[in-house]
Amino acid sequence: MTIAVCLKCGHMKFGAWTPCEKCMHQPEELEDRAKHLILSDHYYTHQDLEQYAQRVAQGEKWFFGEKETRNFINELAKAERQEAVVKESWDLIKEYRQDMAEEELAFFEGLPEYSQAVTARLALYQQYQTRLETANQLGGWAATEAEFQKLLDEDPRLRPLQIHRINKKDGDGWMVTHP
Ligand SMILES: [Zn+2]
Repeated sequence: MTIAVCLKCGHMKFGAWTPCEKCMHQPEELEDRAKHLILSDHYYTHQDLEQYAQRVAQGEKWFFGEKETRNFINELAKAERQEAVVKESWDLIKEYRQDMAEEELAFFEGLPEYSQAVTARLALYQQYQTRLETANQLGGWAATEAEFQKLLDEDPRLRPLQIHRINKKDGDGWMVTHP
């Protein structure tokens, strides 16, 4: 079990995001959760953590640079976003795997779960792509965008794909991306 330091009172506690037994503080905000994760035995020895705990108890608020802390917070936010995408993509991934040859499947399974979700979702989008092409020929960008919104409503598994307008020599183009 994770050992961490409560940043409110300096108590050594079990679990970075669990409530502190001493002061009851429970990190919920992203930044607070990130900071409690940094000050845990994922990154520091017990000895180090005890020293940080003492410093918190003496009133110090934080120990690391703003930039590196901000980077860590951003990484955590990204990981959580990706985790959420993966969580809602399992059915899609399962369906995508069905038609795969054994060799392809071995490669696919070696990808990180988030990449699997992105691959499966973009493949699903490919099935609808001609509809966007038709809309684009008939009504340009406005029609393409409207058709894309329609697709998202019809098949919510396509969420959170996004459409972007791109300028091409021969008229309006578009690009669909997975955030
Ligand atoms: Zn506490």
